[in-house]
Amino acid sequence: VGNSEAFDTEVDSICPYCGVGCQLTYQVKDNRIINVKGREGPSNLGRLCVKGRFGFDYPRHPARLTKPLMRKPGVPKGVDPDFDPANPLTHFYEVEWDEALDFAARGLSHLRAEYGRDVLAGFGSAKCSNEEAWLFQKLVRTGFGSNHVDHCTRLCHASSVAALIECIGTGAVTASFMQAEQADVVILTGCNPAVNHPVAATFFKQAAKKGTKILILDPRGQALNAYAHKVVRFAPGTDVFLFNAMLHVIVTEHLYDETYISQHTEGFEALKQHVMRFSPEAMAPECGVEADEIRAVARLYANADKAMIFWGMGISQHTHGTDNARCLISLALACGQTGRPGTGLHPLRGQNNVQGASDAGLIPMVFPDYQPVTEAQVQSAFEELWGTPLSDKPGLTVVEIMHAIDAGTIRGMYILGENPAMSDPDLNHARSALAKLEHLVVQDLFVTETAQFADIILPAAAWAEKDGTVTNTNRQVQMGRAAIDPPGEAKPDWWIIQALANRMGLNWHYTHPRDVFAEMKQGMNSLNHITWDRLEQEESVTYPCAGDDEPGQDIVYSDAFPTLTGRAKFSAASPLPPDETLDAEYPVVLTTGRQLEHWHTGSMTRRSNVLDALEPEAVASLSPTELQKCGLQPGDDLVITTRRGQIILKARVDPLMADGMVFVPFCYVEAAANILTNAALDPYGKIPEFKYAACRLSGN
Ligand code: SF4
Repeated sequence: VGNSEAFDTEVDSICPYCGVGCQLTYQVKDNRIINVKGREGPSNLGRLCVKGRFGFDYPRHPARLTKPLMRKPGVPKGVDPDFDPANPLTHFYEVEWDEALDFAARGLSHLRAEYGRDVLAGFGSAKCSNEEAWLFQKLVRTGFGSNHVDHCTRLCHASSVAALIECIGTGAVTASFMQAEQADVVILTGCNPAVNHPVAATFFKQAAKKGTKILILDPRGQALNAYAHKVVRFAPGTDVFLFNAMLHVIVTEHLYDETYISQHTEGFEALKQHVMRFSPEAMAPECGVEADEIRAVARLYANADKAMIFWGMGISQHTHGTDNARCLISLALACGQTGRPGTGLHPLRGQNNVQGASDAGLIPMVFPDYQPVTEAQVQSAFEELWGTPLSDKPGLTVVEIMHAIDAGTIRGMYILGENPAMSDPDLNHARSALAKLEHLVVQDLFVTETAQFADIILPAAAWAEKDGTVTNTNRQVQMGRAAIDPPGEAKPDWWIIQALANRMGLNWHYTHPRDVFAEMKQGMNSLNHITWDRLEQEESVTYPCAGDDEPGQDIVYSDAFPTLTGRAKFSAASPLPPDETLDAEYPVVLTTGRQLEHWHTGSMTRRSNVLDALEPEAVASLSPTELQKCGLQPGDDLVITTRRGQIILKARVDPLMADGMVFVPFCYVEAAANILTNAALDPYGKIPEFKYAACRLSGN
């Protein structure tokens, strides 16, 4: 790994992992990537983290799918612990592409004809390109005939997007993370950038070195604590208490920006009244933070000339995730902290293209560019663009689709690059639902856990094997390029989606992702002044972009917000407890997330030699005190039990963990964290509460 001496070609592309969107160069020899270098992209300045630098060999893993696979008659659907993805012919048999596509399309078309258009659903992927996301949602809306299309944004920032759209009229960040270096104060809350957005973390470290005061508000400790001016550890699930108490301080001490509020916002008087009952003294016992500490952090943020707020899934993955984000938006609006250099609101987006896939319409209640499916004018514009009638009924979201399968109202699915048999909450339920589908088409690189439920598996090209654009957390649209050929008969996702669409009666003739991008521009104003040719030449253009020769706007909404009135709206939030309560039987808080070395459900990183060698086995992290309470030593087997199931994995001591908590990464199939998690949903964003479940810990 990492032999840069011997390459014969170099190809510029984008990292396939997180939403930072690092630009990189693949060094290729004999149709194999042998090394990766960082490029001078705007969001990485030549830097890469361990995943981008070393996680490049999964496309040549021996378990890669090279031909379509059909389930053998009589093989039950389910995650079989004895199944070897490198030897799938025990459960499936190989078929030619024509037979596979005919079978896939026939099954879906039959269900639609028999039971109506609402019985089919699709999960697209935030790991595919913008063009593939566009085609996937277009197939569901025009071919399946419903809006039942969703993707992993539902599991990461759906609540943030719901709050942002409600309050400021858009679902994207107001400023890039590079602006942190301009800020006097930066709040990081519910995020762990050194693990999940490592190159973005380098910008926070640089900012701290230059004098930016970093305030970290989080129940867990993290590596960036070493760079923080102040660290506030609060009780899990009490975010709204803490943020409302900060707003109380800002209101009662008149620290708000009256001029900004009167010129750019509405609803402040109601918010002022609302937060009066959340004094720091009253909230301190709730969130486990001293009242003086709450006052100090509120004053630091409000008195800063330029301040930014960054947040992650510690904010969004709660049943009160939308309320959490509403509070953060209120903090920024009250203090006039948007629209200028060094200010802004920034939910750190997870996957490399979750921003782009959301923009391109992989969301059940909106067409591309977040245009509601319920608005007649929007609907008719897309009907004209695509030449077919469209449903005006919002579709079901990820977890709702699982319930609908259970209820028999969703009968067939097309799942592209997502792995709900690992990523969905309450996996025992999700897996039993997947097994009930009458027809499941899965498209992926490997026989994932979800593919073990498929009737037909379509082999897809990996990111490094295809061309396409992606949009990172900073709204930077960037060009990815094929560096190597797909193995065997694997095909680019756009090609497969089109082949399936045409077999379902559509009439598509795209010859390259460039054709798709041209069509996207007709339905997405966000792509104005961004063309395929520009991206080929310039590599990265930020949206919105005001001219053909401008790089795009790093900071937005200096004058007006994209709402009907041009004003942002305060939205008051009242605290709700987490869905589950701790009790004598389940006294510990379980929280889940990612590791630095492994990405999401592990289908790529666990097949990357270096990354797998660094983190080869399932671990749970807990404080020394919590470990001692269990009577265990580091490395011992730890049993974690919730009201939904049990897993066994190795205990790892982590002094940064709070007592009374345990953290489990969700990438290990042998100890799947989501067997334990709670499927209760935030009522607005419909995101599950991955960050809080009541559990019990014990030795094995
Ligand atoms: Fe890839 Fe994210 Fe690491 Fe950059 S920070 S190299 S985009 S995983």
